[in-house]
Amino acid sequence: MIHDPVCGMEIKDTAKAETVEHKGKKYYLCSTMCKNKFLDDPEKYIKEDDGEGHSDHGHHHH
Ligand SMILES: [Zn+2]
Repeated sequence: MIHDPVCGMEIKDTAKAETVEHKGKKYYLCSTMCKNKFLDDPEKYIKEDDGEGHSDHGHHHH
């Protein structure tokens, strides 16, 4: 499941969402407003725990 890192909204249609690439990772934003906020201060919205739990447990459906 993909969430907008700025407002936390679930991105249901990635085709319509705004995308931003930051440090090689792709982020989806629900609107241009959120995109601008994200670009303004990306680190503020990326809460990444740089601990040991860095494995991929996601189930992707294509
Ligand atoms: Zn948003």
